[in-house]
Amino acid sequence: MLSTKKSFLALTSVIGMTTAIPALSQSSQTLNLYSARHYQTDEALYAEFTKQTGIKINRIEADDNALLERLRSEGKNSPADVILLVDAARLWRAEIEGFFQPIQSKVLETRIPKNFRSNDVGKGSQWFGFSTRARVIVYNKATMDPKNIDTYEKLADPINKGKVCTRSGSHPYMLSLIGAMVERQGEAKTEAWAKGMVANMARAPKGGDTDQIKGVASGECGVALTNSYYLARLMRSNKAADQEIVAKVGMIWPNQASSGTHMNIAGGAVASYAPNKAAAIKFLEYLASDTAQKYFADGNNEWPIVKSVKTTNDALNKLGNFKQENISIASIGKNQIYAQKILDRVSYK
Ligand code: FE
Repeated sequence: MLSTKKSFLALTSVIGMTTAIPALSQSSQTLNLYSARHYQTDEALYAEFTKQTGIKINRIEADDNALLERLRSEGKNSPADVILLVDAARLWRAEIEGFFQPIQSKVLETRIPKNFRSNDVGKGSQWFGFSTRARVIVYNKATMDPKNIDTYEKLADPINKGKVCTRSGSHPYMLSLIGAMVERQGEAKTEAWAKGMVANMARAPKGGDTDQIKGVASGECGVALTNSYYLARLMRSNKAADQEIVAKVGMIWPNQASSGTHMNIAGGAVASYAPNKAAAIKFLEYLASDTAQKYFADGNNEWPIVKSVKTTNDALNKLGNFKQENISIASIGKNQIYAQKILDRVSYK
């Protein structure tokens, strides 16, 4: 934590003096990393990169919105080399705002599945996924029948009136889920679904994914949506209160007999004005290596994106295997515009 703060301060003070930026950022032995990640296992992840390459990492860690705000204000003077963000919706927005540059890398093209990276035909990809997460259904085991809630579509069925909880529809995790639905079944069907969801709500959308799990455990909600790692985090917690929550909640992999469970990514890209582009590409390629994949995914209870790398995370292994939705993450990012319009039309807050 201390080292993070130190590097943050060091970089901040340099950014404050525009003329001093080149001294820091043009060194071939330095990489400036803007990251929305903040996990303890990341320390080992970065230390191993420096050990392998001799390249020192300066980290700026903040939440996704703060990072994007910073990139906006820095413009062409940004010292950022690599940008790490979560969710296709956010990665696509950053791409559209011009924060990334396309790169060509045989290593990344071979290691990262095609549906988990942006596609710029002929120009290389702008961003790449490095871990995956699933959007799953959680339910109260005492009050709900899993048969009535085993697909995203069924959550909008009148049989579940007054039972459904979600976070705000405009949050990137929801926009991506709805963007995937638009891709699978078109706007009209997706809008009918969103309308059904609003009619079924147990309460107005509020809180984060963990709050939805808690709402299910308390009985306020019968069923809710959450990213898989929030559930895995509670499963791995030593706190008695968390274990009590886990005991009351069941989990369903949605849409197993049809389209598969909605998947998303945490990913990264080379920044548009990266002063250390070669080091930046080297770092992304490192993130796709077997060693880094384990650290990267496990830091947030996610799955490695490279198929041959298996997770050693007990909670995830306990949840087992499942059928994944196979939609290009790039189209999901793009569809968030349609998703937001649908939400506005049906007053999904
Ligand atoms: Fe999250």
